[in-house]
Amino acid sequence: MRVRVLGAAAGGGFPQWNCACENCVLARAGDARVVAATQDSLALSTRPGRWLVVNASPDVHRQIQAFAGLHPAGPRHTPIAAIALTNGDLDHVLGLLSLRESQPLTVLATERVRAGLVERNVVFRTLARTAGQVTWRRLDLGGEVVLDDVGLGVTAVPAAGKLPVHLVGLVEPSLEDNVALRIRDLASGRVAVIATALGSLEGVEAILAGADAVFVDGTFWSDDELVARGLGAAHARDMAHVPVGGPQGSLAGLAGAAAGARRVYTHVNNTNPMLRTGSPERAAVEQAGWEVARDGMEVTL
Ligand SMILES: [Zn+2]
Ligand SMILES: [Zn+2]
Repeated sequence: MRVRVLGAAAGGGFPQWNCACENCVLARAGDARVVAATQDSLALSTRPGRWLVVNASPDVHRQIQAFAGLHPAGPRHTPIAAIALTNGDLDHVLGLLSLRESQPLTVLATERVRAGLVERNVVFRTLARTAGQVTWRRLDLGGEVVLDDVGLGVTAVPAAGKLPVHLVGLVEPSLEDNVALRIRDLASGRVAVIATALGSLEGVEAILAGADAVFVDGTFWSDDELVARGLGAAHARDMAHVPVGGPQGSLAGLAGAAAGARRVYTHVNNTNPMLRTGSPERAAVEQAGWEVARDGMEVTL
């Protein structure tokens, strides 16, 4: 299985358009310590020309353009066999609207995520202009959806999360709001786990167990990252992201998890100091055997 990081940044991207934090300033200046990144998305494949894309970010056009594997092979064609959604946050779903050019799409989502998008949002009718334009395939918690043409099986596992901001107060929270995906190569049995939003570490070791590669929520280094920099009032945990650093962070909490797997932090917010090569935070991550994702990075398993 090939796993390619199409976008390694959290919502907002890196640099973020309205941010002049230390990292964003360095990125705009072209400083060698940081690498700009687009918003969270990964592509997985076991055979040429057929890809499963996880999350459709607002940067999906740039991401397709930057990777020849996703270019069309005919006058109207896409190698994207299916798109799986981990939650309904805008940084994971807005790209669907950019893929509307009457292209038939298959989208895997929990029923809650599907309903949150199409039942309350008239704009999503643009993906229902023609019969069969979008085929929704339902991710039931714990049940595997088999994608024969990609050679992959996808299982959604509930992960502590939250409703997308635009649905808070409109619907009750549900276990289906945010999932990690265990993606299995049907031929080799190898497994990649994608868990780019983790609101707590409870049960996470089990979600990652037995995987050959894991892509884990690296959004924030510290719980008060935005508050301390005067960039916002919300703490990491309020946004359902366990910070990486500190005694309660994922680096410490997952020290024994996914032993032997490639362990990669992705969905990294532009404010996170581990983005900077040479920072003590980056050194701590690497010393613990983790990597920090970059756009275009590939893991083969
Ligand atoms: Zn996100
Ligand atoms: Zn920034």
